[in-house]
Amino acid sequence: MSEKKHFLEQIIDEDVSNGFPKSKIKFRFPPEPNGFLHIGHVKAICINFNLAKKFNAPVVLRFDDTNPEKEEQVFIDAIKKDVSWLGFNWSEERFASDYFEQLYLWAEILISNDKAYVDSQSSSQIADQKGTPTSVGLNSPFRGRTIEENLKLFREMKAGLHDEGSHVLRAKISMNANNMLLRDPVIYRVLKKEHPRTKASWVIYPMYDWAHGESDYIEQISHSLCTLEFKPHRELYNWFLKQIAEPNKIKPKQREFARLNLSHTITSKRKLMQLVQGGHVSGWDDPRMPTVSGLRRRGYPAEALVAFVEAAGVAKRENIIEASLLEYCAREELNKTTQRVMVVSDPVKIVITNYPEGKYEVINAVNNPEDPESGEREVLFGKEILIEKEDFKEEAGKKFFRLTIGKEVRLKGAYIILANKIIYNDDQTIKEIQCTYDAKSKSGSGSEQSQRKVKGTLHWVSKTHAFEVEIREYDRLFFEPSPASAKTNEELISMLNKDSMRVLKGYAEPFLKTAISGNKYQFQRKGYFVTDKESTATKLIFNKTVGLRDNWAKKQNN
Ligand code: ATP
Ligand code: MG
Repeated sequence: MSEKKHFLEQIIDEDVSNGFPKSKIKFRFPPEPNGFLHIGHVKAICINFNLAKKFNAPVVLRFDDTNPEKEEQVFIDAIKKDVSWLGFNWSEERFASDYFEQLYLWAEILISNDKAYVDSQSSSQIADQKGTPTSVGLNSPFRGRTIEENLKLFREMKAGLHDEGSHVLRAKISMNANNMLLRDPVIYRVLKKEHPRTKASWVIYPMYDWAHGESDYIEQISHSLCTLEFKPHRELYNWFLKQIAEPNKIKPKQREFARLNLSHTITSKRKLMQLVQGGHVSGWDDPRMPTVSGLRRRGYPAEALVAFVEAAGVAKRENIIEASLLEYCAREELNKTTQRVMVVSDPVKIVITNYPEGKYEVINAVNNPEDPESGEREVLFGKEILIEKEDFKEEAGKKFFRLTIGKEVRLKGAYIILANKIIYNDDQTIKEIQCTYDAKSKSGSGSEQSQRKVKGTLHWVSKTHAFEVEIREYDRLFFEPSPASAKTNEELISMLNKDSMRVLKGYAEPFLKTAISGNKYQFQRKGYFVTDKESTATKLIFNKTVGLRDNWAKKQNN
């Protein structure tokens, strides 16, 4: 982690040095429960929780549940699971809906102070009067309603006496404000929809700007950190606070940072929802999704996601971070932590002609060379071995260091073999490759032959002992580097990579039989894999998390 303080930390430092009490620093992470968290949210989570750690301050997990049309309990549960999985503990769990009564009472105060009025025009009439950034707006004909009339109508709205769209409550600020958001924004609307938590208690709901800042105030958040698109809202945020804040209380300070955008994918719950609902992915946790749950199922460790957003940095300008940086962070972490195993996916059979029939021997293989504590496992070696078809070429140029007739390779952790002869099937496909082994070349035996250098080392499995597994390999979900640029849903869907998933068979060494959902491995020479939750007792399924090397960048340069 870089030691340099990012601008948000500097802002807080400055507040503290100007006398803001350290003990009153408090943050919040305020997701709207209208979808699953994605990699962009990880940035917001890390910013808040990491600052909290630095200042020894609490973080509220607040569900911004003011729009019952889109919010669901499953999303609340998923969000909590994801934040915990990332390794963060919130100090309080709150819901903006808990504050509906207070927000309502404050709205009555606004009305009583002639700072809000009920507008009985349609939403399109209101929009028509908004004006433009270069021309002023028009006052609503209802702007002059008396306080009494406004209070009566607002109470009737609350009591359910009015239809959706018939009236709204608007703040009375100015239709001439340079900032369009200050041109008498709507703060309440009639919406006759059950809320997941407050059920049928409310038929009017507060708008985002009214609910958000006031929730920050209720919780006495000191620094309300959000993404740049809220910067123009800051003026309104402060205007609302000014109407209700008491002198001895903390007025939260809103500050904005750049969103995290990731190449070849989208970070918007709304758009991700379209992929789910359109059946373009198997669900929010499809391993190709940039959601926390998708990345987890794909095998990304929480540590890698956190390291990634920290590497991407905290800035005031938006940019698109290359997906290859995320993959790099995953490799770094997985290399340190994963169990090594051997799996062959597209096999060709090797028969070691000078190896005794029916004999098997145990090879002790290191579980993880990066971790001295990881110990060893037993791998069985015998007369019939499977290697990858692509690791053999009948005739090969000088640069091919794998198996070819007349040449030697080492079978990883085992013996050096020499390829002698190919036996063909009737259809001219290869039935087997006959090899001889050097009985004195066993790895780690200390013999002179064991130290003999050969150019290639291949992974392999004993044909007798290997068992079949399913391997799912993934490619980018979108072939477009920035699918967020799509103007329509159709355009977005047309940017999907149609070949983003490939299902293969694999032949695994017996050790892998112990795999359970979520276990991570390095399949040697192949990449990092994780056991998928769809695995059954009779069929194990592995998702490829990421390859050992950055093939993507290479592909781009070719
Ligand atoms: P989406 O468009 O995906 O629904 P949102 O901004 O509406 O995103 P919220 O649930 O309202 O999502 O966001 C919770 C917090 O996460 C907010 O503070 C928001 O600013 C932050 N956040 C959302 N997306 C990103 C992102 N891509 N990068 C950084 N922070 C983000
Ligand atoms: Mg939002």
